[in-house]
Amino acid sequence: MKGKVYLVGAGPGDYKLITLKGMDCIKIADVIVYDRLVNRTLLKNARKDCEFIYVGKKSSNHTKTQDEINDIIAHKAKEGKIVTRLKGGDPYVFGRGGEEGEYLREREIDFEVVPGITSAIGGLCYAGIPITHRDYASSFHVITGHLKDEDKELDWESLAKLNGTLVFLMGIANLNKIATSLIENGKDKTTPTALINWATTQNQKVVEGTLENIHEIALKEKIESPTLIVVGEVVKLRKHLNFFESKPLFGKSVVVTRSRAQSSKLVDKIMNLGGNPIEFPTIKIEEIKPNEALDREIERLSQYSYIIFTSENGVKIFFDRLFELNYDSRKLGNIKIIAIGPATSKALRERGIAADIIPKRFVGEAVVEELQEILSKEDRILIPRASEARPYLVKKLSEICGVVECKTYRTVKGEGNKEEILELLNEDKINYVTFTSSSTVKNFVEIIGKENLDKLKNTKIISIGPITSNTIKDFGLNVYKEAEEYTIDGIIKALI
Ligand code: SAH
Repeated sequence: MKGKVYLVGAGPGDYKLITLKGMDCIKIADVIVYDRLVNRTLLKNARKDCEFIYVGKKSSNHTKTQDEINDIIAHKAKEGKIVTRLKGGDPYVFGRGGEEGEYLREREIDFEVVPGITSAIGGLCYAGIPITHRDYASSFHVITGHLKDEDKELDWESLAKLNGTLVFLMGIANLNKIATSLIENGKDKTTPTALINWATTQNQKVVEGTLENIHEIALKEKIESPTLIVVGEVVKLRKHLNFFESKPLFGKSVVVTRSRAQSSKLVDKIMNLGGNPIEFPTIKIEEIKPNEALDREIERLSQYSYIIFTSENGVKIFFDRLFELNYDSRKLGNIKIIAIGPATSKALRERGIAADIIPKRFVGEAVVEELQEILSKEDRILIPRASEARPYLVKKLSEICGVVECKTYRTVKGEGNKEEILELLNEDKINYVTFTSSSTVKNFVEIIGKENLDKLKNTKIISIGPITSNTIKDFGLNVYKEAEEYTIDGIIKALI
């Protein structure tokens, strides 16, 4: 097979600011070669067997030279591989994409270029600065602040005359020189100037001043690379247009303790609210397999009048096996289905089943109360669920009718990284920890160690519901807020 290279702009930082075409290139790649400014979350979309090569640079302290990078890309393509070369922003805006393309063309290697949202425009946008505006700037100019040949001067005289917005990339180390050269060549020293550090990410930091004092401010605020320097009247609009930093979770780090397989919804919502989700999986769902008991219950489903599904996992595992045994949803045709919680009912809908009963509250006690009204002693109930689930539901319902509990999965300890989380806690970098079940609490404590619990004193704990809250309190921890509705959306509301 002939290899091919895609030079792809990954956007300025927020991982959703990539094009559909760019995302396709990530999904099909055999090899992904990526830079420092590329959001790592994007790499999760790659194939399981994809090879990742980091070629990040930090200012003049290069990890790999451009020649080495060209070589790697060409070499992999020559082996017949699909190589996706991911670059921050747009590949042709100071990204040396042109040089990489030329190198490939010389070697007759097939390539395509996928444009990206450049930080020069998108980064300003997230800082609340429109790069043009009818009242303030009718052009914009994107300029390098770091010249290839250090002695070669930019044409400061011409730049100082421009009335459009000036955006300098790679310029933070030369900020003093940039500002003084513009002033010396006639630019008004009171021109509004902003510095945008880590634009469009949860670490975005923006400082404002004038051409005259911006260098002093940068030193005081310790602004480092990557930073955009914006010079022009449009900077003044920031106070009206700053949508990103006003998001409810902007700048907040939130630990997600669910299993990796289940965390995506919560993680995504935290990101959309401007927060920084930290995945620390404390649990892992392990299907019980082979499971003769489950097979037996599926074969004799017609004996049951009710099935209670208590979780999304429970639904998934039950139906996967039902389908494997060559049955389909019709097998449940005469059985009434009870779904506990909206996520469970959604998982059922996806498999062609609209639950007959969705109890209003999702705790065992409330479920029993509601079902007591409906059930009679002739009923038979099947409950496929986790092996460590609370006995309450089965015990209470058995007082009314026949109940069979079928254990379909176990919750085991997850692979959350203890050192990483302790370091963040020591540095006071965690604002919230979310717990979505008692097992996430127990395993969290087990992983970080009881002796480290006092490190949580400045961290706010958010709980999904009363049972989870009790477990949290049993460990001597405080619940800062409990979700009103015992769901992921409830957790999000509590966070907001
Ligand atoms: N191709 C990229 C630019 C590469 S040059 C693009 O189109 O955006 C690297 C410079 O871009 C950095 O030194 C910095 O000035 C700027 N930059 C890129 N991403 C940035 C970000 N998220 N925040 C601030 N500056 C960024």
